[in-house]
Amino acid sequence: MADLGVGGQLSPTSLQRGLSQERVKRLDRSIKEGRFGAQVALIKIWDRTGRIVYSNKSKEIGRRFPISSDLREALDGDVANELSKLEDPDNAVANQRFGQLLEVYVPLRFGGDEKPKGAVELYLPFQPVAAVIREDTLKLYALLFVGLSVLYAILFRVVARASRKLTRAAAERAHQALHDALTDLPNRALFRDRVQEAIAAAERNGTAVAVMIMDLDRFKEINDTLGHHNGDELLCNVGPRLERAVRTSDTVARLGGDEFGLLVPNITDRSVAERIARRAVESLEAPFEIQGLNLEVEASIGAAFFPDQGTDVDTLLQRADVAMYTAKRGHSGYVEYATEHDAYSFTRLRLMTELRQAMDNDELVIHYQPKAALPTGKVTSVEALVRWQHPERGLIPPCDFIPAAENTGAIKTLTLDVIDKVLSQSYAWRNGGIRLKVSVNLSARCLLDVELPATIYQLLRKWEVPPSTLQFEVTESSIMADPPRVQTVLEKLRSLGIEIAIDDFGTGYFSLSNLKNLPVDEIKIDKLFVTRMAADHHDAAIVQSTIDLARNLNLRVVAEGVETKDVWERLSELGCDLAQGAYIGCPSEPDELLDLLAKRRVERIA
Ligand code: C2E
Ligand code: CA
Ligand code: CA
Repeated sequence: MADLGVGGQLSPTSLQRGLSQERVKRLDRSIKEGRFGAQVALIKIWDRTGRIVYSNKSKEIGRRFPISSDLREALDGDVANELSKLEDPDNAVANQRFGQLLEVYVPLRFGGDEKPKGAVELYLPFQPVAAVIREDTLKLYALLFVGLSVLYAILFRVVARASRKLTRAAAERAHQALHDALTDLPNRALFRDRVQEAIAAAERNGTAVAVMIMDLDRFKEINDTLGHHNGDELLCNVGPRLERAVRTSDTVARLGGDEFGLLVPNITDRSVAERIARRAVESLEAPFEIQGLNLEVEASIGAAFFPDQGTDVDTLLQRADVAMYTAKRGHSGYVEYATEHDAYSFTRLRLMTELRQAMDNDELVIHYQPKAALPTGKVTSVEALVRWQHPERGLIPPCDFIPAAENTGAIKTLTLDVIDKVLSQSYAWRNGGIRLKVSVNLSARCLLDVELPATIYQLLRKWEVPPSTLQFEVTESSIMADPPRVQTVLEKLRSLGIEIAIDDFGTGYFSLSNLKNLPVDEIKIDKLFVTRMAADHHDAAIVQSTIDLARNLNLRVVAEGVETKDVWERLSELGCDLAQGAYIGCPSEPDELLDLLAKRRVERIA
């Protein structure tokens, strides 16, 4: 109101006593001249009692009216407003002139007044206000439209980019879950899926499926001598070669380590699979160039066929593995699964299931056979030989279950079980003051397991038995399965302080250079030659030259299968270090062994 200039005409006293004519005129003039900055249709100034102190309708001045609710609000200090028309008929002209009006009640305060001394009732034409509001609203809408459009454009791009990223990440994750990170070939999971699909398709079409497992023969050596980085590079180069060797409908997968899977679906003739496998083997023949070196890699492939050799993924994979292992042993490149390989006949399979249970039920027992020093006859070491104490079939000899266990992988569990039992026995003997070195037979499968030394180390720690108590016997043929890898495993075992003996020496295709390079402490001449040496001078010559060879290489030499006094004496003359066999003592339970040793000591001293 101060701005409107009304304030200047008013004071608390004038409000109380009424305005002089002079002031009324001045106000009239100000209103007419539009000094309030806006057109005014009607203005009334009220005091608190409901008397009109001023109105531009002069006849109302000085009159008193009941206080309306809007006026009451203003007198209480609030601004009230509403849209209205002037009601009484004498305002018709003003109505026509101004149209809709904005009715405003404003409290009148003077100085620092708390309570308004009066109020101004003001009717302003709504038209200009509405125009401004319309203009502002339009501007606001335009602004909102532009703003929202920009926001939409930005958000659209952000969301689109994010969703593209998410889709890509999901696709990547799906790919990663099914592919090998190093070679980007399908992994084992995807390979299994594909085999499953191929089986389903072959069932519908009446065709066959070949599932193959390929293992690189010298990979371990490359990995160890040139480092993992180069080994990885080699693996990466193998995949593309294999893929070129197979048909587009075939699958090449990396199953882990240096093991690859080949799936040849929809075949009517096994020779197709063989051709593909041979091509795969040949594809690796050209040397791989890595770090300027030409590396040669050989591979062994085993194949199993649906439906003849298995109708489910697991069986096919397992049998392909058995065949691969046969190929590796025989250096034959490609081998198709045949029952003879592992004689998965019904009884064998049942035997295997039972063997696993037997291990759980602790049915394996260890017999110990002494080795005696020549010529004194003193026994300082024994060989641990496993037997299966079957609840119905009695004592089953190892030749009835070890070969099958070797072909199924059960041999690893079995070996660890044997070692654990042997160490437990050693622990007991040591506590009883008996020091005997114990040798344990390690099969080929175990020798290919690079994790084995670490596991054995754990067992040694568990039983607190010094590693020098333990010796491992390995055969020539098991070394030949993959000499570099076996060498690594043997070296690790030896670095733990465990002795290594070559078992059944003379029966394999061992070359002397192999023997020279291997970490070996002892060789055991096969009993085949020893038992016959008394009768056959060829066998005697073999025994003699083996003993000479061992001496020259600084190796201890043991003759096994010593059954007679005669042979014992001959071996003694030839300078053999130790003898094992029925003449010294048959494999027996620990208690029996101790009796036997005690008796022998008495005899010896006598
Ligand atoms: P091997 O390592 O050559 O064990 C020597 C075998 O010759 C034993 O047969 C032993 O009983 C037998 N033998 C002992 N003295 C004489 C003798 O004077 N004359 C003759 N002709 N034979 C004698 P066993 O206990 O039946 O073991 C057979 C094979 O089973 C072992 O041959 C070994 O290759 C394997 N084996 C035994 N225990 C284990 C084991 O714990 N793990 C593994 N992987 N293989 C084992
Ligand atoms: Ca042995
Ligand atoms: Ca032997």
